[in-house]
Amino acid sequence: MKTTDIENTRKLPYLKQFPDENGYFGKFGGSFVPENVAEAMQDITTAYHLIAQNSDFIAELRKIRKHFQGRPTPIYFAHNLTKKYGGAGIYLKREDLNHTGAHKLNHCMGEGLLAKFMGKKKLIAETGAGQHGVALATAAAYFGLECEIHMGEVDIAKEYPNVTRMKILGAKVIPVSFGAKTLKEAVDSAFEAYLKDTKNTMYAIGSVVGPHPFPKMVRDFQAVVGFEAKEQFIEITGELPDTVVASVGGGSNAMGIFSGFIDDAVELIAVEPLGKGSKLGEHAASLSYGSEGVMHGFRSIMLQDEKGEPAAVHSIASGLDYPSVGPEHAYLHSIKRTKIATIADEEAISAFFELSRKEGIIPAIESSHALAYALKIAPELKGKKILINLSGRGDKDIDFVVQNYGYGD
Ligand SMILES: *Cc1c(COP(=O)(O)O)cnc(C)c1O
Repeated sequence: MKTTDIENTRKLPYLKQFPDENGYFGKFGGSFVPENVAEAMQDITTAYHLIAQNSDFIAELRKIRKHFQGRPTPIYFAHNLTKKYGGAGIYLKREDLNHTGAHKLNHCMGEGLLAKFMGKKKLIAETGAGQHGVALATAAAYFGLECEIHMGEVDIAKEYPNVTRMKILGAKVIPVSFGAKTLKEAVDSAFEAYLKDTKNTMYAIGSVVGPHPFPKMVRDFQAVVGFEAKEQFIEITGELPDTVVASVGGGSNAMGIFSGFIDDAVELIAVEPLGKGSKLGEHAASLSYGSEGVMHGFRSIMLQDEKGEPAAVHSIASGLDYPSVGPEHAYLHSIKRTKIATIADEEAISAFFELSRKEGIIPAIESSHALAYALKIAPELKGKKILINLSGRGDKDIDFVVQNYGYGD
Protein backbone atom coordinates (compact mmCIF):
# COMPACT_ATOMS: atom_id res chain seq x y z
CA MET A 1 0.00 0.00 0.00
CA LYS A 2 1.14 3.57 -0.66
CA THR A 3 1.49 5.76 2.41
CA THR A 4 -1.58 7.76 1.44
CA ASP A 5 -3.65 4.57 1.24
CA ILE A 6 -2.50 3.56 4.68
CA GLU A 7 -3.40 6.98 6.04
CA ASN A 8 -6.85 6.78 4.47
CA THR A 9 -7.38 3.31 5.86
CA ARG A 10 -6.46 4.52 9.30
CA LYS A 11 -8.95 7.35 9.12
CA LEU A 12 -11.88 5.14 8.11
CA PRO A 13 -13.80 3.82 11.10
CA TYR A 14 -13.34 0.07 11.51
CA LEU A 15 -17.02 -0.74 10.94
CA LYS A 16 -16.93 1.00 7.53
CA GLN A 17 -13.75 -0.83 6.56
CA PHE A 18 -14.80 -4.37 7.45
CA PRO A 19 -15.99 -6.55 5.89
CA ASP A 20 -14.93 -5.73 2.31
CA GLU A 21 -17.56 -5.81 -0.44
CA ASN A 22 -17.27 -9.60 -0.77
CA GLY A 23 -17.82 -10.12 2.91
CA TYR A 24 -14.20 -10.70 3.94
CA PHE A 25 -12.64 -9.80 7.27
CA GLY A 26 -9.02 -10.34 6.25
CA LYS A 27 -9.00 -13.95 5.01
CA PHE A 28 -12.11 -14.93 6.98
CA GLY A 29 -15.76 -14.78 5.91
CA GLY A 30 -16.85 -14.79 2.27
CA SER A 31 -19.60 -16.92 0.78
CA PHE A 32 -19.04 -20.61 0.05
CA VAL A 33 -22.40 -21.74 -1.30
CA PRO A 34 -23.88 -23.40 -4.41
CA GLU A 35 -24.78 -21.13 -7.30
CA ASN A 36 -28.53 -20.95 -6.65
CA VAL A 37 -27.89 -19.95 -3.03
CA ALA A 38 -25.28 -17.41 -4.17
CA GLU A 39 -27.96 -15.67 -6.20
CA ALA A 40 -30.33 -15.51 -3.24
CA MET A 41 -27.52 -14.16 -1.02
CA GLN A 42 -26.73 -11.51 -3.64
CA ASP A 43 -30.37 -10.39 -3.61
CA ILE A 44 -30.29 -10.08 0.18
CA THR A 45 -27.00 -8.16 0.00
CA THR A 46 -28.38 -5.72 -2.56
CA ALA A 47 -31.60 -5.17 -0.60
CA TYR A 48 -29.69 -4.73 2.64
CA HIS A 49 -27.40 -2.08 1.15
CA LEU A 50 -30.45 -0.24 -0.16
CA ILE A 51 -32.31 -0.14 3.13
CA ALA A 52 -29.23 0.53 5.26
CA GLN A 53 -29.01 3.91 3.47
CA ASN A 54 -32.73 4.56 3.54
CA SER A 55 -33.94 7.06 6.14
CA ASP A 56 -37.47 5.57 6.30
CA PHE A 57 -36.04 2.14 7.12
CA ILE A 58 -33.70 3.57 9.74
CA ALA A 59 -36.55 5.58 11.32
CA GLU A 60 -38.79 2.50 11.34
CA LEU A 61 -36.13 0.37 13.05
CA ARG A 62 -35.57 3.13 15.64
CA LYS A 63 -39.27 3.25 16.39
CA ILE A 64 -39.45 -0.53 16.78
CA ARG A 65 -36.47 -0.57 19.12
CA LYS A 66 -37.89 2.12 21.33
CA HIS A 67 -41.59 1.26 21.46
CA PHE A 68 -41.66 -2.52 20.91
CA GLN A 69 -38.35 -3.81 22.29
CA GLY A 70 -38.05 -1.29 25.11
CA ARG A 71 -34.62 0.04 24.11
CA PRO A 72 -32.34 1.53 25.19
CA THR A 73 -31.61 -1.18 27.76
CA PRO A 74 -29.91 0.27 30.84
CA ILE A 75 -26.36 -0.06 32.10
CA TYR A 76 -26.34 -1.10 35.74
CA PHE A 77 -23.47 -0.57 38.20
CA ALA A 78 -23.25 -3.84 40.15
CA HIS A 79 -22.46 -2.19 43.47
CA ASN A 80 -22.61 -5.31 45.66
CA LEU A 81 -20.31 -7.37 43.44
CA THR A 82 -17.93 -4.45 43.03
CA LYS A 83 -17.68 -4.14 46.80
CA LYS A 84 -17.28 -7.88 47.37
CA TYR A 85 -14.52 -8.41 44.77
CA GLY A 86 -12.71 -5.25 45.85
CA GLY A 87 -11.11 -4.38 42.51
CA ALA A 88 -12.55 -3.08 39.26
CA GLY A 89 -15.93 -1.39 39.08
CA ILE A 90 -18.36 -3.93 37.55
CA TYR A 91 -21.03 -2.74 35.11
CA LEU A 92 -23.68 -4.71 33.22
CA LYS A 93 -25.29 -3.89 29.88
CA ARG A 94 -28.78 -5.24 30.52
CA GLU A 95 -29.77 -7.08 27.30
CA ASP A 96 -31.76 -9.38 29.58
CA LEU A 97 -34.26 -6.50 29.69
CA ASN A 98 -34.65 -6.41 25.90
CA HIS A 99 -38.09 -7.75 24.86
CA THR A 100 -38.10 -11.61 24.87
CA GLY A 101 -35.23 -11.55 27.34
CA ALA A 102 -32.08 -11.54 25.22
CA HIS A 103 -30.14 -9.66 22.57
CA LYS A 104 -31.32 -11.95 19.74
CA LEU A 105 -34.42 -9.87 19.02
CA ASN A 106 -32.13 -7.01 17.90
CA HIS A 107 -31.18 -8.79 14.69
CA CYS A 108 -34.45 -10.70 14.28
CA MET A 109 -36.40 -7.43 14.06
CA GLY A 110 -33.88 -6.15 11.49
CA GLU A 111 -34.12 -9.34 9.45
CA GLY A 112 -37.93 -9.24 9.66
CA LEU A 113 -38.03 -5.64 8.46
CA LEU A 114 -35.70 -6.53 5.58
CA ALA A 115 -37.88 -9.54 4.64
CA LYS A 116 -40.93 -7.28 4.60
CA PHE A 117 -39.10 -4.76 2.41
CA MET A 118 -38.12 -7.54 -0.02
CA GLY A 119 -41.75 -8.69 -0.27
CA LYS A 120 -41.09 -12.06 1.39
CA LYS A 121 -43.95 -13.95 2.97
CA LYS A 122 -42.17 -16.32 5.29
CA LEU A 123 -39.21 -16.44 7.68
CA ILE A 124 -37.38 -19.76 7.97
CA ALA A 125 -34.70 -20.74 10.46
CA GLU A 126 -33.36 -23.54 12.56
CA THR A 127 -33.02 -23.39 16.29
CA GLY A 128 -31.08 -25.40 18.85
CA ALA A 129 -32.27 -24.46 22.32
CA GLY A 130 -35.13 -22.47 20.83
CA GLN A 131 -33.91 -18.96 21.70
CA HIS A 132 -33.45 -17.89 18.09
CA GLY A 133 -36.74 -19.57 17.19
CA VAL A 134 -38.64 -17.60 19.83
CA ALA A 135 -37.06 -14.28 18.81
CA LEU A 136 -37.79 -14.93 15.13
CA ALA A 137 -41.37 -16.04 15.85
CA THR A 138 -41.81 -12.76 17.74
CA ALA A 139 -40.51 -10.75 14.78
CA ALA A 140 -42.74 -12.71 12.36
CA ALA A 141 -45.83 -11.98 14.48
CA TYR A 142 -44.93 -8.27 14.55
CA PHE A 143 -44.47 -8.04 10.78
CA GLY A 144 -47.36 -10.33 9.85
CA LEU A 145 -45.06 -12.90 8.24
CA GLU A 146 -45.34 -16.68 8.37
CA CYS A 147 -42.65 -18.40 10.39
CA GLU A 148 -41.23 -21.91 10.08
CA ILE A 149 -38.72 -23.14 12.65
CA HIS A 150 -36.81 -26.39 12.16
CA MET A 151 -35.76 -28.12 15.33
CA GLY A 152 -34.25 -31.52 16.12
CA GLU A 153 -36.55 -33.94 17.96
CA VAL A 154 -34.00 -34.30 20.75
CA ASP A 155 -34.00 -30.53 21.28
CA ILE A 156 -37.80 -30.36 21.09
CA ALA A 157 -38.03 -32.77 24.01
CA LYS A 158 -35.32 -30.93 25.98
CA GLU A 159 -36.48 -27.37 25.39
CA TYR A 160 -40.22 -27.79 25.54
CA PRO A 161 -41.11 -24.37 27.04
CA ASN A 162 -39.53 -22.62 24.05
CA VAL A 163 -41.42 -24.89 21.64
CA THR A 164 -44.62 -23.87 23.39
CA ARG A 165 -43.68 -20.19 23.16
CA MET A 166 -42.99 -20.46 19.41
CA LYS A 167 -46.34 -22.14 18.84
CA ILE A 168 -48.22 -19.57 20.92
CA LEU A 169 -46.53 -16.88 18.81
CA GLY A 170 -47.95 -18.57 15.70
CA ALA A 171 -44.83 -20.23 14.31
CA LYS A 172 -44.84 -23.67 12.72
CA VAL A 173 -42.31 -25.92 14.42
CA ILE A 174 -40.94 -28.62 12.09
CA PRO A 175 -39.50 -31.62 13.98
CA VAL A 176 -36.29 -32.97 12.43
CA SER A 177 -36.01 -36.71 12.89
CA PHE A 178 -32.86 -37.79 11.02
CA GLY A 179 -29.25 -38.16 12.19
CA ALA A 180 -28.55 -37.02 15.73
CA LYS A 181 -31.82 -35.00 15.64
CA THR A 182 -30.15 -31.84 16.96
CA LEU A 183 -28.92 -28.47 15.66
CA LYS A 184 -26.76 -29.67 12.76
CA GLU A 185 -29.63 -31.64 11.19
CA ALA A 186 -32.00 -28.75 11.85
CA VAL A 187 -29.69 -26.47 9.82
CA ASP A 188 -29.78 -28.93 6.89
CA SER A 189 -33.55 -29.30 7.10
CA ALA A 190 -34.22 -25.54 7.29
CA PHE A 191 -31.84 -24.87 4.42
CA GLU A 192 -33.54 -27.46 2.26
CA ALA A 193 -36.93 -25.89 2.94
CA TYR A 194 -35.53 -22.45 2.10
CA LEU A 195 -34.06 -23.66 -1.22
CA LYS A 196 -37.50 -24.85 -2.32
CA ASP A 197 -38.78 -21.28 -2.38
CA THR A 198 -36.10 -18.59 -2.13
CA LYS A 199 -38.46 -16.14 -3.81
CA ASN A 200 -41.06 -16.00 -1.06
CA THR A 201 -38.97 -16.94 1.94
CA MET A 202 -36.10 -15.45 3.86
CA TYR A 203 -33.60 -17.57 5.75
CA ALA A 204 -32.93 -15.69 8.97
CA ILE A 205 -29.56 -16.65 10.45
CA GLY A 206 -29.31 -16.38 14.24
CA SER A 207 -25.78 -15.06 14.75
CA VAL A 208 -22.82 -13.40 12.99
CA VAL A 209 -22.20 -16.61 11.02
CA GLY A 210 -23.15 -18.05 7.62
CA PRO A 211 -22.35 -16.69 4.14
CA HIS A 212 -22.05 -12.96 3.35
CA PRO A 213 -24.02 -10.73 4.02
CA PHE A 214 -25.19 -12.33 7.30
CA PRO A 215 -22.06 -11.77 9.45
CA LYS A 216 -22.09 -8.08 8.48
CA MET A 217 -25.85 -7.61 8.61
CA VAL A 218 -26.33 -9.28 11.98
CA ARG A 219 -23.38 -7.32 13.41
CA ASP A 220 -24.82 -4.05 12.11
CA PHE A 221 -28.22 -4.83 13.68
CA GLN A 222 -26.54 -5.77 16.99
CA ALA A 223 -24.22 -2.73 17.01
CA VAL A 224 -27.00 -0.77 18.70
CA VAL A 225 -25.94 -2.52 21.93
CA GLY A 226 -22.42 -1.09 21.72
CA PHE A 227 -23.47 2.37 20.55
CA GLU A 228 -25.93 2.70 23.41
CA ALA A 229 -23.42 1.29 25.89
CA LYS A 230 -20.69 3.75 24.96
CA GLU A 231 -22.94 6.76 25.37
CA GLN A 232 -24.45 5.46 28.63
CA PHE A 233 -21.10 4.49 30.11
CA ILE A 234 -19.67 7.94 29.49
CA GLU A 235 -22.83 9.51 30.90
CA ILE A 236 -22.58 7.43 34.10
CA THR A 237 -18.81 7.47 34.72
CA GLY A 238 -17.47 10.31 32.59
CA GLU A 239 -15.12 7.95 30.74
CA LEU A 240 -14.84 4.76 28.72
CA PRO A 241 -14.61 1.31 30.33
CA ASP A 242 -11.12 -0.22 30.46
CA THR A 243 -12.39 -3.68 29.51
CA VAL A 244 -15.50 -5.01 27.77
CA VAL A 245 -16.36 -8.71 28.24
CA ALA A 246 -18.88 -10.82 26.31
CA SER A 247 -19.66 -14.51 25.81
CA VAL A 248 -19.18 -16.00 22.35
CA GLY A 249 -21.26 -18.72 20.73
CA GLY A 250 -21.56 -17.60 17.12
CA GLY A 251 -20.53 -14.18 18.36
CA SER A 252 -23.47 -11.80 17.82
CA ASN A 253 -23.83 -10.34 21.32
CA ALA A 254 -20.06 -9.91 21.51
CA MET A 255 -19.83 -8.17 18.11
CA GLY A 256 -22.78 -6.01 19.15
CA ILE A 257 -21.13 -4.59 22.22
CA PHE A 258 -17.58 -4.59 20.74
CA SER A 259 -18.82 -2.45 17.82
CA GLY A 260 -19.25 0.52 20.15
CA PHE A 261 -15.63 0.41 21.34
CA ILE A 262 -13.68 -1.07 18.46
CA ASP A 263 -11.89 2.16 17.50
CA ASP A 264 -11.14 3.09 21.13
CA ALA A 265 -8.36 2.11 23.49
CA VAL A 266 -10.62 -0.39 25.24
CA GLU A 267 -9.66 -4.01 25.89
CA LEU A 268 -12.17 -6.43 24.30
CA ILE A 269 -12.45 -9.94 25.73
CA ALA A 270 -14.41 -12.77 24.09
CA VAL A 271 -15.24 -15.59 26.49
CA GLU A 272 -15.61 -19.09 25.05
CA PRO A 273 -17.22 -22.14 26.72
CA LEU A 274 -14.62 -24.61 28.03
CA GLY A 275 -17.41 -27.04 28.93
CA LYS A 276 -16.03 -30.07 30.78
CA GLY A 277 -12.44 -29.76 29.60
CA SER A 278 -9.99 -29.05 26.78
CA LYS A 279 -10.31 -32.35 24.84
CA LEU A 280 -12.16 -32.24 21.50
CA GLY A 281 -15.81 -32.99 22.22
CA GLU A 282 -15.75 -31.64 25.77
CA HIS A 283 -15.98 -27.94 24.92
CA ALA A 284 -17.08 -25.47 22.23
CA ALA A 285 -14.11 -23.09 22.44
CA SER A 286 -13.53 -22.71 18.69
CA LEU A 287 -11.03 -19.84 18.73
CA SER A 288 -9.02 -21.35 21.57
CA TYR A 289 -8.65 -24.86 20.13
CA GLY A 290 -9.89 -24.76 16.52
CA SER A 291 -8.25 -24.49 13.11
CA GLU A 292 -9.01 -22.73 9.85
CA GLY A 293 -11.67 -24.19 7.60
CA VAL A 294 -14.95 -23.71 5.78
CA MET A 295 -18.34 -24.82 7.07
CA HIS A 296 -21.93 -23.54 6.85
CA GLY A 297 -20.92 -21.24 3.95
CA PHE A 298 -18.07 -19.21 5.48
CA ARG A 299 -14.35 -19.42 6.28
CA SER A 300 -13.41 -19.14 9.93
CA ILE A 301 -11.75 -20.95 12.79
CA MET A 302 -13.62 -24.10 13.67
CA LEU A 303 -13.59 -27.35 15.60
CA GLN A 304 -13.35 -30.17 13.05
CA ASP A 305 -13.12 -33.94 13.19
CA GLU A 306 -10.54 -35.92 11.12
CA LYS A 307 -12.74 -35.61 8.03
CA GLY A 308 -13.03 -31.84 8.31
CA GLU A 309 -16.68 -32.14 9.34
CA PRO A 310 -18.05 -30.00 12.21
CA ALA A 311 -16.95 -31.74 15.42
CA ALA A 312 -19.29 -32.70 18.23
CA VAL A 313 -19.08 -29.97 20.87
CA HIS A 314 -20.34 -29.42 24.39
CA SER A 315 -21.30 -26.50 26.56
CA ILE A 316 -23.73 -26.31 29.43
CA ALA A 317 -25.11 -23.22 27.67
CA SER A 318 -27.00 -24.38 24.56
CA GLY A 319 -26.55 -20.93 23.01
CA LEU A 320 -22.75 -21.34 23.06
CA ASP A 321 -22.76 -24.91 21.77
CA TYR A 322 -21.49 -24.27 18.22
CA PRO A 323 -18.38 -25.75 16.51
CA SER A 324 -17.32 -22.49 14.86
CA VAL A 325 -17.40 -18.76 15.40
CA GLY A 326 -18.27 -15.72 13.27
CA PRO A 327 -15.50 -14.81 10.77
CA GLU A 328 -15.11 -11.35 12.27
CA HIS A 329 -14.10 -12.88 15.61
CA ALA A 330 -11.52 -15.04 13.81
CA TYR A 331 -10.14 -11.89 12.18
CA LEU A 332 -10.14 -9.67 15.28
CA HIS A 333 -8.38 -12.42 17.22
CA SER A 334 -5.80 -12.92 14.44
CA ILE A 335 -4.83 -9.22 14.53
CA LYS A 336 -4.85 -9.32 18.37
CA ARG A 337 -7.59 -6.69 18.68
CA THR A 338 -9.54 -9.06 20.93
CA LYS A 339 -8.40 -11.34 23.69
CA ILE A 340 -9.87 -14.83 24.08
CA ALA A 341 -10.63 -16.40 27.45
CA THR A 342 -12.42 -19.60 28.47
CA ILE A 343 -14.82 -20.47 31.27
CA ALA A 344 -15.86 -24.02 32.24
CA ASP A 345 -19.42 -25.19 32.92
CA GLU A 346 -19.02 -25.18 36.71
CA GLU A 347 -17.53 -21.68 36.77
CA ALA A 348 -20.49 -20.37 34.77
CA ILE A 349 -22.93 -21.97 37.22
CA SER A 350 -21.16 -20.31 40.18
CA ALA A 351 -21.44 -16.93 38.46
CA PHE A 352 -25.13 -17.64 37.73
CA PHE A 353 -25.83 -17.95 41.46
CA GLU A 354 -23.46 -15.12 42.38
CA LEU A 355 -25.31 -12.53 40.29
CA SER A 356 -28.70 -13.86 41.41
CA ARG A 357 -27.82 -13.70 45.11
CA LYS A 358 -25.73 -10.52 45.15
CA GLU A 359 -27.62 -8.28 42.74
CA GLY A 360 -31.08 -9.81 42.27
CA ILE A 361 -30.55 -10.58 38.57
CA ILE A 362 -30.85 -14.17 37.25
CA PRO A 363 -28.58 -14.32 34.17
CA ALA A 364 -28.71 -16.72 31.22
CA ILE A 365 -26.05 -19.45 31.53
CA GLU A 366 -24.53 -18.06 28.29
CA SER A 367 -24.11 -14.61 29.84
CA SER A 368 -22.82 -16.22 33.05
CA HIS A 369 -19.66 -17.19 31.12
CA ALA A 370 -18.81 -13.52 30.52
CA LEU A 371 -19.69 -12.65 34.09
CA ALA A 372 -17.56 -15.49 35.50
CA TYR A 373 -14.49 -14.27 33.63
CA ALA A 374 -15.04 -10.67 34.71
CA LEU A 375 -15.30 -11.76 38.35
CA LYS A 376 -12.05 -13.71 37.94
CA ILE A 377 -10.06 -10.68 36.77
CA ALA A 378 -11.85 -7.95 38.75
CA PRO A 379 -9.87 -8.28 42.03
CA GLU A 380 -6.57 -7.51 40.22
CA LEU A 381 -7.93 -4.45 38.43
CA LYS A 382 -8.26 -1.88 41.18
CA GLY A 383 -9.25 1.54 39.84
CA LYS A 384 -10.37 0.09 36.49
CA LYS A 385 -13.86 -0.44 35.08
CA ILE A 386 -15.24 -3.58 33.45
CA LEU A 387 -18.37 -3.63 31.30
CA ILE A 388 -20.07 -7.02 30.81
CA ASN A 389 -22.65 -7.75 28.16
CA LEU A 390 -25.43 -9.48 30.06
CA SER A 391 -26.82 -11.02 26.86
CA GLY A 392 -29.94 -12.60 28.35
CA ARG A 393 -32.01 -13.51 31.37
CA GLY A 394 -31.88 -16.92 33.02
CA ASP A 395 -35.56 -17.80 33.38
CA LYS A 396 -35.16 -20.38 30.61
CA ASP A 397 -32.39 -22.10 32.59
CA ILE A 398 -33.79 -22.33 36.11
CA ASP A 399 -35.27 -25.86 35.91
CA PHE A 400 -32.09 -27.26 34.41
CA VAL A 401 -29.87 -25.55 36.97
CA VAL A 402 -31.91 -26.61 39.99
CA GLN A 403 -32.24 -30.22 38.77
CA ASN A 404 -28.49 -30.51 38.28
CA TYR A 405 -27.01 -28.20 40.91
CA GLY A 406 -29.72 -27.70 43.49
CA TYR A 407 -29.74 -24.16 44.81
CA GLY A 408 -25.99 -23.76 44.51
CA ASP A 409 -25.27 -24.11 48.23
C1 LIG B 1 -27.85 -17.28 21.70
C2 LIG B 1 -27.32 -16.64 22.90
C3 LIG B 1 -25.94 -16.36 23.06
C4 LIG B 1 -24.89 -16.80 22.07
O1 LIG B 1 -25.03 -16.30 20.77
P1 LIG B 1 -24.06 -15.17 20.22
O2 LIG B 1 -24.42 -15.08 18.78
O3 LIG B 1 -22.66 -15.63 20.45
O4 LIG B 1 -24.34 -13.94 20.97
C5 LIG B 1 -25.51 -15.69 24.19
N1 LIG B 1 -26.40 -15.32 25.16
C6 LIG B 1 -27.72 -15.57 25.05
C7 LIG B 1 -28.62 -15.13 26.14
C8 LIG B 1 -28.23 -16.24 23.92
O5 LIG B 1 -29.55 -16.49 23.83
